Amino acid sequence: MDRDTNDACEMVNATCLLCGAPALRLLGTVANRRFRFTPELGDLPAQSAIFECPACGHIQKRHDGSDVAIMEALYANYNAGNFSPRISQAVFNQAGAINREQHVLARCADALGTCRDLLDIGCGPGTFLRWAGLALPGANLHGFDVTDIHRAEIMELPHVASFVCGRLAALQDRRFDCIVLWHSLEHMPDPRHDLALVRGMLRDHGKVLIQVPDVEQMPFDLAMFEHYSHFTTATLIALAEQAGFSVILNGRGWVHNCITLLLEMTGDLAATHLRPTPTRPARTGDDGRRRVAWLNAAGRHLTDAVAEWTGDFVIFGIGTAAGWLHGQLSGIPRAFVEEDPSRIGILVDTIPTISAEAILDGDLVILPFCPEIAKSIVARLRKAHKRLPVSQIVFPSLRYD
Ligand SMILES: [Zn+2]
Repeated sequence: MDRDTNDACEMVNATCLLCGAPALRLLGTVANRRFRFTPELGDLPAQSAIFECPACGHIQKRHDGSDVAIMEALYANYNAGNFSPRISQAVFNQAGAINREQHVLARCADALGTCRDLLDIGCGPGTFLRWAGLALPGANLHGFDVTDIHRAEIMELPHVASFVCGRLAALQDRRFDCIVLWHSLEHMPDPRHDLALVRGMLRDHGKVLIQVPDVEQMPFDLAMFEHYSHFTTATLIALAEQAGFSVILNGRGWVHNCITLLLEMTGDLAATHLRPTPTRPARTGDDGRRRVAWLNAAGRHLTDAVAEWTGDFVIFGIGTAAGWLHGQLSGIPRAFVEEDPSRIGILVDTIPTISAEAILDGDLVILPFCPEIAKSIVARLRKAHKRLPVSQIVFPSLRYD
């Protein structure tokens, strides 16, 4: 029996972030995505413990006061090291690559057509607001974030009418037609409470648009220290229903590694938002434990491959998975490899980003992806770099599903 399995038996007294159940099961620990050469972000713990609620199945982290202090420093420097680049993740469709904001806004345009005031909670440097201004030109846009660092930039965006920073409760007397939680709900230490606040800030017929990483598609999300929640479609819908919302559009297939929901209010807030038990039956099986075990096995497989290789190596991608692997290797990659031309040349944690064509013959190429996605990248890599032998491309072999 290995360590992951032993750890999985332990229960701790802690309240589930989603359903309020009083005890959580420890699934094991995972390596965090870390910044090795970006001193202002150097304090991130090497590992985080991952828990699962036995009542509702929600996968989550617990953070103490010192973790919260590290997170505040992280948010104040969120662009440091370029691990959270401003360039949005691309979605590839028949027309080519478009970004995920544009893709989702196009699908929600009819439902949001009458929106007068749209609030983006956790707006960061304005990635979503920029696209919302184009897709919903009749709407006034409002931004909220925990830090003030992007205020000037946000206020200069077309159609942006206001920006507030600090605590979400500061907005509770304002009213909006659409509230967006774009890759922010997973950062919230009390998502039930915050979603109840959001509900109170909606006008009649108001909508909520949520996009979060999908842990069922992307186990590397577990490596994000600052993510308290690791949602599945079932747990996100359970949270939404518990907060008094119903799903108008379920965009599960819109972006391959994300869950996207468009919600509207149902019923009476007082009757629904404090319900202590989940609206869905408890999950059985061990999905959470399998996800943690897969990530740890993938980490061992890739770190072993790098340790055995005597030459240079490069890591494919600059997202969560690349940062997760980079944070735990003994060696330093020669480069990160990117397919998106707009990302070539940027320094990620001081290491250059190159195109697939710039991979050298002697480089070991590490693909920190689930096998199905890795295989499609291998096919593209072999086209871009015809001399690269298959034996020099390494990805996790264990199936993830
Ligand atoms: Zn729970």
